[in-house]
Amino acid sequence: MVLFVGTTLPPTSMAYLAALTTRVHLPTSSFSITRKGFSAFRHIARPLLQSVSGGDIGQPLSANESEIIFTGSGTSEGIPRVSCLTDPVKKCPVCFKAAEPGNKNRRLNTGILVRYAGSSGTRNILIDVGKFFYHSALQWFPTFGIRTIDAVIITHSHADAIGGLDDLRDWTNNVQPSIPIYVAQRDFEVMKKTHYYLVDTSVIAPGAAVSDLQFNIIPEEPFVVSGLKVTPLPVWHGRGYRSLGFRFGNVCYISDVSEIPEETYPLLKDCEILIMDALRPDRSSSTHFGLPRALEEVRKIQPKRTLFTGMMHLMDHDEVNGYLLKLKESEGVDAQLSYDGLRISVTL
Ligand SMILES: [Zn+2]
Ligand SMILES: [Zn+2]
Repeated sequence: MVLFVGTTLPPTSMAYLAALTTRVHLPTSSFSITRKGFSAFRHIARPLLQSVSGGDIGQPLSANESEIIFTGSGTSEGIPRVSCLTDPVKKCPVCFKAAEPGNKNRRLNTGILVRYAGSSGTRNILIDVGKFFYHSALQWFPTFGIRTIDAVIITHSHADAIGGLDDLRDWTNNVQPSIPIYVAQRDFEVMKKTHYYLVDTSVIAPGAAVSDLQFNIIPEEPFVVSGLKVTPLPVWHGRGYRSLGFRFGNVCYISDVSEIPEETYPLLKDCEILIMDALRPDRSSSTHFGLPRALEEVRKIQPKRTLFTGMMHLMDHDEVNGYLLKLKESEGVDAQLSYDGLRISVTL
């Protein structure tokens, strides 16, 4: 038997869909809207979507208000794992919960969108575009009314951080001429192999419409993106493998880390919001902090608030957050797990 797992719709049904409706599926209902009815849709959908993400949906930013939206908070294979849902013997509690739409255990590849309210308007700066970037953007860009991508900053060149570079073609073909990518030299060298046709577009057939990307090599020193000062936070992500965290304002983002070098700690001084890698509840792996180590680092860095990211399927959102809440009561550590679609207001 042959199963077709990725077929496109026949032209007649495509035309029908394009002409008439966009169908939106929500946990308890589904409804249709005309393509021109986006603002009405947001008005209708907002209360429903709020219950999905727990966030504040689609409100426009005021002129001087910046924010961070979590485009993903999970591991490379995504949560739920397909292998857990098809396991004939064991029923993975977190993955089965994550299979329900809107559940906070449902996690795509780690990344954030920084919406920076600069002097020339709000700029959308992505940190990482992983393998599931399309799915994340599909869910959150319409929800939060995001149209353009002003820059992408890369933490490292693993597939869950750069696998979505090809999907940026939708923006550079249909929204804006190009997208600047900020990347360390070592990761650019990897991209020359993994995405050779985006680095050197002379190899593609004339007329082929791939992503139009402008690569900017970043040093391990502060640089400016769309008017926002960004300070790299060099860390180890496995023995001898460098990854970058980034600081903007008093927000520090470190998504892939197994060790923080001594020279990076001064860069974390007076951090107010720390977004930090915490893979699993019990121990660290060779490439990622586990929750106990991540909490040790939080006690050392002493941010006002911490949000963990990069969680695997052993991290149950409500269970771990319940444990973390007790820590807040007992020792004043304000730390919680983030989740996909979480939106927080920040001062940059
Ligand atoms: Zn699982
Ligand atoms: Zn990685």
